[in-house]
Amino acid sequence: MSSDRYPFREIEDKWQAAWETSKQFQVKEDPRRPKFYCLEMFPYPSGRIHMGHVRVYAIGDLLARYKWMRGFNVLHPMGWDAFGLPAENAAIEHNVHPAIWTYANIENMKAQLKKMGISYDWDRELATCDPSYYKWEQLIFVRMLERGLAYRRRSTVNWCPGCQTVLANEQVEAGRCWRCDSEVTPRDIDGWFFKITAYAEELLEWCDRLPGWPERVITMQKNWIGRSEGAEFDLPVVGKPELKVRVFTTRPDTAFGMTYAVLAPEHPLVDQIITDPDEHARVAAFRSEVARESEIERMAADRPKRGFRLSAKVVNPFNGAEIPLFIADYVLMGYGTGAIMAVPGEDQRDWDFAKQHALPIIETVKRPQGWVGEAYAGDGVKVNSGFLDGLPVAEAKRKAIDYLVEHGYGVGKVNYRLRDWGISRQRYWGAPIPVLYCETCGMVPEKEDNLPVVLPRDVQISGKGGSPLAESPAFVNAPCPKCGGKARRETDTMDTFVESSWYFLRYCSPQFDGGMFERAAADYWMPVDQYIGGIEHAVLHLLYARFYTKVLRDLGLTKVDEPFNALLSQGMVIKDGAKMSKSKGNVVDPDDLIRTYGADTARLFSLFAAPPEKDLDWNDQGVEGASRFLNRVWRFVVAHGETVKGANRAARPTTEAGQVFRRTIHETIKRVTDDIETDFHFNTAISAVMELVNALYAFEPASLDTVPAEERAALLGEAVETVLLLLGPISPHMTEELWRQLGHQESLFAQPWPTADAAALRRAEVTVVLQVDGKVRGRLVVDVDAPERHVRELALADDKVQTWIGGRAVDRVVVVPNRLVNIVTKP
Ligand SMILES: [Zn+2]
Ligand SMILES: [Zn+2]
Repeated sequence: MSSDRYPFREIEDKWQAAWETSKQFQVKEDPRRPKFYCLEMFPYPSGRIHMGHVRVYAIGDLLARYKWMRGFNVLHPMGWDAFGLPAENAAIEHNVHPAIWTYANIENMKAQLKKMGISYDWDRELATCDPSYYKWEQLIFVRMLERGLAYRRRSTVNWCPGCQTVLANEQVEAGRCWRCDSEVTPRDIDGWFFKITAYAEELLEWCDRLPGWPERVITMQKNWIGRSEGAEFDLPVVGKPELKVRVFTTRPDTAFGMTYAVLAPEHPLVDQIITDPDEHARVAAFRSEVARESEIERMAADRPKRGFRLSAKVVNPFNGAEIPLFIADYVLMGYGTGAIMAVPGEDQRDWDFAKQHALPIIETVKRPQGWVGEAYAGDGVKVNSGFLDGLPVAEAKRKAIDYLVEHGYGVGKVNYRLRDWGISRQRYWGAPIPVLYCETCGMVPEKEDNLPVVLPRDVQISGKGGSPLAESPAFVNAPCPKCGGKARRETDTMDTFVESSWYFLRYCSPQFDGGMFERAAADYWMPVDQYIGGIEHAVLHLLYARFYTKVLRDLGLTKVDEPFNALLSQGMVIKDGAKMSKSKGNVVDPDDLIRTYGADTARLFSLFAAPPEKDLDWNDQGVEGASRFLNRVWRFVVAHGETVKGANRAARPTTEAGQVFRRTIHETIKRVTDDIETDFHFNTAISAVMELVNALYAFEPASLDTVPAEERAALLGEAVETVLLLLGPISPHMTEELWRQLGHQESLFAQPWPTADAAALRRAEVTVVLQVDGKVRGRLVVDVDAPERHVRELALADDKVQTWIGGRAVDRVVVVPNRLVNIVTKP
């Protein structure tokens, strides 16, 4: 480590302590000031922060400090998404209680974060595993239960027969248990669900009312909700007309092309339709095969579709045709009705399946010229379609639905891909679900006065058996809240996505004990103005948080429809071509980085190396470069501190050199401000500041003899202070230190953000001489320092110049800036 580095360690400690002592970033509601709620997705307390954290918190802090300087009242909180599976795994592997492990991790990470000097209001810190936090989501659970928005039903989970336990999806690796390698089997158990589907339409509609969200996230949300308009109707089973296969289709106009129908293997009707024992056995074998496939695999377009023909047939109500009935893995029970009419002519998956099973393919839409060899999903005129022939697709769809309704076969229907949110986890380290099962009353919610249902500490976690809470008699056995008789508590805990669905509301009044949050505080701060987090949360967390906020609104608790006004999804931090991870051995520890270079360098590097939405490719030279730049700023300010302090800031330049330099200062202010405000171009904003520092280094010696001392001092002062103000939100410690060294009593972050002076931006004009082959042929008035390319174009377009060139080819153009342009023609 070179010795000429500025004393970053001392400075960073000093200002972190000073900001904390003065509670500089502590905020209160203040109706007189505009608010800005800046929020980074809170971390899971894994124990160590990594470079991905450094990146996202540096982005958040840049915006927060920038908004402070723009005069906003900025809420910038931090907390811990503290429940979850890793704590339980640690308990099993290291025999440490999840609570102890979690709180120790929080302490470690908090200490690390503090070394980054982020402008958090630490008084608002929260941990979701605290009963004073999850108490409120238990209360909301009870309210949702009353309104039918929380309900219990049987569903299929991953079961490990070795560990005798339910596995989360992420604990299943290639169909096997991550811990004991047993083959995972499906098992039906009762669990709790939130009725997010009741909000499908609203969640979809609001997708188009979130202009501050990245387009790709909006598209992912829309696809996840998956709205489709179509029809639902019955196909009676031949010989058993009381049994009907209900199908959903988005293309009822293609029904005349139905050459077979398909049931999902899990469809309950299958058991009623088949009577032959051999067929039963075949179905059972197929079902257990399919159960090992994930839903994503089953829906993949490029994968062979498996299935077989049942002995039964069904009737197509459009033309009375008897068609074969199949079960196949590409039809899912959870989507639509769990059964489809297959129209291979217009659906590629049906086409593939029909080809495999040698089923007929009927075209019901006239193909464009030259179309061969696959399904056609486009528009066109109906053919082979009875009363629909000759109609375009959209009109035929409407007519087909009318036909179904008229004859009582079916109805028009909107369908969603979105399913209800399964929130039950058979785990220990989560918020208990506040219901009991009474021997006489059945399921009873816990009384509101008895909340929170506190997670007991004395539970053995072995990773085997069912819910660990079931092993704690003191927890399980409780009186029925209704009749006082014997009851058992629910032993499932809530999905941790429930906690992260409202923490942003809790931050508005984190100590409030009269409810989930204080209404006035939430009304002031919400919605979040800028949310920042990884693209991996594009669907689940963001959709759940949107849903939960709408539920809270409908319970009368908040006025906001949407929690996050704007979203920034930052890219990953990669090194040697791969995401940083322990298993790849390419991890850079932020602690080492901060120890060697300081937090200001770490922050500057992570903001400069890539635009925030792109992946950041780690390189050591980049870190060195960031460090060199900060040292360069430091040296200049320290060397010229006295000159700057004594400067008359009201003096305006009178010399041309002075005016040009002042223009550079103000152009930089404009560029940096525009880059931050538009599309978060922090990297180009930093480039602009670097250019200003270069200009400063050039101006200082060059102006010594040519610019009067007072003017020169004023300009050096303005340039230095501008650099510190613009760089403040990026590298706050060093800039704060230098700012104070220049004699300012107030914090840099209490200063207004600089604004570009229009008078300084105005460019002086100069007259440039135009020559053709060395002879003066005209004159041109251009801005001082106009770009060479621009001057060259104007010169070549000049009428007089064109006359003198007279059709000869131009050999080269010589531009002497602010003086002349000489156009040399080919001899
Ligand atoms: Zn296992
Ligand atoms: Zn009871």
